[in-house]
Amino acid sequence: MVFPNSGQSRCLWTACSALALSIFSHGVVHGQHPGLTRFEAEARENARGYEWLAWSTTAIGHRLTGSPQGARAQAVADSLFRLAGVDRVSQHPFTAQAWARGTVMLRLTDGAGTEHLAAVALAQTPDSADVEGDLVDLGNGLAEQYAQLKDRVAGRVVLMNIGLVDAPKGTGNLHRSEKAALAIRHGAIGIVFVNNVDGGVLLTGTASIDGATIPVPAACIASEDGLRIRGRLNAGASLRVGLRMTNRIGTVQARNVVAEIPGSDRAHEVVVVGGHLDSWDLATGATDNGLGAFSIVDMARAVVASGHRPRRTLRFILFMGEEQGLLGSEAMVADLKATGELERVRCMINMDMTGDPFGFGVVGPAGWGPLVDTLMAPIHAMDTAFRMDLKEQAWLHSDHQSFLLAGVPVINPLCDLGGHVYGCYHSSCDDVHLVDPRDMVNNVRFVGALLLQLADAPALPGHFTEEGLGARLRADGLEEKLRMAGQWRW
Ligand SMILES: [Zn+2]
Repeated sequence: MVFPNSGQSRCLWTACSALALSIFSHGVVHGQHPGLTRFEAEARENARGYEWLAWSTTAIGHRLTGSPQGARAQAVADSLFRLAGVDRVSQHPFTAQAWARGTVMLRLTDGAGTEHLAAVALAQTPDSADVEGDLVDLGNGLAEQYAQLKDRVAGRVVLMNIGLVDAPKGTGNLHRSEKAALAIRHGAIGIVFVNNVDGGVLLTGTASIDGATIPVPAACIASEDGLRIRGRLNAGASLRVGLRMTNRIGTVQARNVVAEIPGSDRAHEVVVVGGHLDSWDLATGATDNGLGAFSIVDMARAVVASGHRPRRTLRFILFMGEEQGLLGSEAMVADLKATGELERVRCMINMDMTGDPFGFGVVGPAGWGPLVDTLMAPIHAMDTAFRMDLKEQAWLHSDHQSFLLAGVPVINPLCDLGGHVYGCYHSSCDDVHLVDPRDMVNNVRFVGALLLQLADAPALPGHFTEEGLGARLRADGLEEKLRMAGQWRW
């Protein structure tokens, strides 16, 4: 995932509070949705998600798509869904170009001496690369930096921040893959990203906006090394960088894991809750995205255990290949389109680094925002820690993107996992000690409560029209990003 820019949130709680309080009291749901009462009790009292996550990080390790650990994670997820009591569990195979790291060497020379820096390769970098060139500092690597330095980029190795450092207020960051695309377009022969987290933390992630191998090597160095190098550049040193790497790139079969609870009288309509099971390989990916993935399995368990049969079909999907570029969800959507089944998917809830949500981001045509707003009131009545924030701004780079670009309304839980988690995003420190079990319990309680209400709602608004989606993505400032990814079609 990538973190959405924080935007205006809107809460219409006051309009709903009187109604909600008349329905609920003492944290126990009365009357209108008996399934929700039983579900809430199951989610709170018999939670298993954290235990499964903790076990998997020990027994499996990371869950990189295409690796033996990734395959093991798929098999374990399948078993856990069955253990959770879901009858309909299947695997959705897809073929992907999988990348795996080999070796990387980053050498810095100033004419007098040479030093080697700790570095990790970004994904979708070449299987073999060996470049050497003058180092030019591109700061945050945004378009405005090229306006100043564009003639000095071609033929050189660029240094730029993954995050935003000293940017004017309101500056929007670009995804690392978008920064890489800009650098390549301007003729850079190599890219050195500077992490923005203290403590020697190294970060990985895809450097490709479209899943294809990029033509130049790209690696990440620690923030302390970046600071030191900039100090030398600013003092007038001319530095040359040698960047050499080998990686393995090959076509592999991976499988999304799908569990389904059939609906009753509206079974042909499907509400999807999904999240990626795969992770990067520098640690165990406990927060990205074991947190979401194992919460989803526990949510399925709690629905089955509650005995409530929803009107619409619930489909729980654990995607693989998200980290390498939304590969599993794109394959899933392509297959749903091909079979005509996509029309049946009424909306998609994506859980990527979701923990203890306090509201929902909603991106759908007219009607979706107000509907979700209304459905949050019963959740707030269960637990006032759920603040009912509503945000309606589209963002990219997680599995909801595949559904959104096909016109399906998408929902992302809003949460704040804290700096200790975000600092370990895609990094060597993303391990289970970062996960608060309560975050997973509340994932199941709050997202599950929305899921059940959506599944039982009298009616749901429709999909985006093609024109409506284009207008919405443009209004939300995503046209340029989608153009860079070759995905703008309006
Ligand atoms: Zn993620």
